[in-house]
Amino acid sequence: MQKINEIEDLIRLISKLPGLGPKSAKRIVLKLINNRDELVKPMANTLAQVYKNVTRCNLCGSLKSNITGCFNCQNIKEKFNKICVVEDISDQWSIENSNIFEGYFHILGGTISSVGRKKEDLLINSLVDRVNKEKIEEVILATSATVEGQTTAYYIKDSLKYTKAKVTKLAQGLPIGGEIESLDDGTLYSAFKNRTKLNSDLG
Ligand SMILES: [Zn+2]
Repeated sequence: MQKINEIEDLIRLISKLPGLGPKSAKRIVLKLINNRDELVKPMANTLAQVYKNVTRCNLCGSLKSNITGCFNCQNIKEKFNKICVVEDISDQWSIENSNIFEGYFHILGGTISSVGRKKEDLLINSLVDRVNKEKIEEVILATSATVEGQTTAYYIKDSLKYTKAKVTKLAQGLPIGGEIESLDDGTLYSAFKNRTKLNSDLG
């Protein structure tokens, strides 16, 4: 391929996407430039819209549209008494797809020790506020079975000690190092069903 700066830049950007290396990035870029009107133009517009309108919700950590608001914590018609805390939105999607859990979600956006993540970024204060405001009875910590995930779970448990909620954690059946999004429905189901209580002072 001849060197065209714009194309090189695009290949470099696309190869940063998950599951894509330089080779597949080149194939994607070729497909794009061969379909300027059908792909490049609408994609450029859509990306601009996403950049402008889609941001992280400061309350629940999910993605929200600045036009329609946050579906996760503002547009929900049903009231729930449980909230499930996950690291990433992909974990929420896995749990939703498996139909194991009915309740609110809170997305940390990482773990305490993940690179570049400060405790404030994880929206833990906002979680405590939500638990109090929504009169949540159970907080289910569905962080991954990694050292960072478990450290984060215990930190959150401590942060919730002045709320009335029972705090539970997914069962140890999770494979060590297991990330929620990579679990099959069966494993996820038993991890939810056999979740253990972390705070012992409440009935
Ligand atoms: Zn929200």
